[in-house]
Amino acid sequence: MPEQDPTASPADVVVLGAGIAGLTSALTLAEAGHRVRVWSADDPTATTSAHAGGVWKPTYQAPLAGSLARAARSLEEYLRLAALPGTGVRMVDSVTVGEVPDRDALPAQLRLLPALSPEPPAELPAGFDRGLRHRSPIVDLPRHVGWLVDRLTELGGKVETRHVESVDEPLGQADVVVVAAGLGSRELADDPTVRPLFSQYVVTDNPGITQLLVEISDSRRWTSIIPHDDRVHLGGVRVPGRTDATPDREEAREILHRCREAEPRLRDARVLRIDTGILPSRPTTRVEAEHRGDGLVVHNYGHGGSGLSLCWGTAHEVVRLVAERDPAADRSRAR
Ligand SMILES: Cc1cc2nc3c(=O)[nH]c(=O)nc-3n(C[C@H](O)[C@H](O)[C@H](O)COP(=O)(O)OP(=O)(O)OC[C@H]3O[C@@H](n4cnc5c(N)ncnc54)[C@H](O)[C@@H]3O)c2cc1C
Repeated sequence: MPEQDPTASPADVVVLGAGIAGLTSALTLAEAGHRVRVWSADDPTATTSAHAGGVWKPTYQAPLAGSLARAARSLEEYLRLAALPGTGVRMVDSVTVGEVPDRDALPAQLRLLPALSPEPPAELPAGFDRGLRHRSPIVDLPRHVGWLVDRLTELGGKVETRHVESVDEPLGQADVVVVAAGLGSRELADDPTVRPLFSQYVVTDNPGITQLLVEISDSRRWTSIIPHDDRVHLGGVRVPGRTDATPDREEAREILHRCREAEPRLRDARVLRIDTGILPSRPTTRVEAEHRGDGLVVHNYGHGGSGLSLCWGTAHEVVRLVAERDPAADRSRAR
């Protein structure tokens, strides 16, 4: 849904980054009537985002009210996209286990999920003693990224492969630059609070699993089973500070062991690959406007391990910050 009158004050915008943060910002800006180019060091199919498992899950980043609003907005968008053909988003039966509070104390984020009810203990996967049943969106990232790029292109947007050293490069060619460069934002925004976070999943073929399993946990290791038509993503492990993306085979064995305990059908599944990525961790995802001379830089980075849960919320905040700029500055730059 456009956030402003498209004819009011369209801007020339360069979005740095074609991960989920950059592409959702670019599409939402184009839908609001802006002229959008995406510059990305990597092809959209080769980003960290393109290898994500594909699950929306509650995210408790501080401040809580902000992350709740972003997660709610993202969930709303996925519910809408799941009803449309070709988006790569669909709804599945799901069970959330792990650090799940009693029904009366459920955090607002879990209450957002449709068809929520306690899961009877006898139905829970092995190793878990409490859980919730609900419906959830899951996102097939390769398809969804393709859909985002196609939709952006239909609206006149462009995606170009281009590495930049500084935001001054695009600022010379645009009214607004959106920094959505994941871990690359650390250098581009000169922000040392962006820290690397290694994450690893194992991908197997699908022996007939249709139900999503997500464990909510603060621990470095957890159990998640994310079923797509042709494969299952099994999580996971995260290691703060690690910058080496080489797959860890011992951790992969442990992930398989945990997931096979929870879902015995995975014992027959064939491992297709190990997916790793270095995530842009930050105490709080940054969505903020910064004036640079006549130009405007809008930051949108630091989504950590919750890019899918936050990205549509942060994209709509980007559109609001661009709408609030002074269009007179665009005109003075054009002169
Ligand atoms: C295996 C795995 C599974 C995951 N599963 C999930 C999941 O199920 N749900 C979930 O919510 N999250 C998941 N995540 C986390 C999710 O992938 C991240 O939160 C998300 O990818 C962050 O998106 P981003 O757009 O900020 O960054 P990225 O996807 O890293 O994109 C960064 C973009 O910036 C570009 N860039 C960087 N530097 C420059 C530069 N100097 N010039 C030009 N371009 C530049 C890159 O080329 C790229 O296009 C998973 C992560 C991994 C590794």
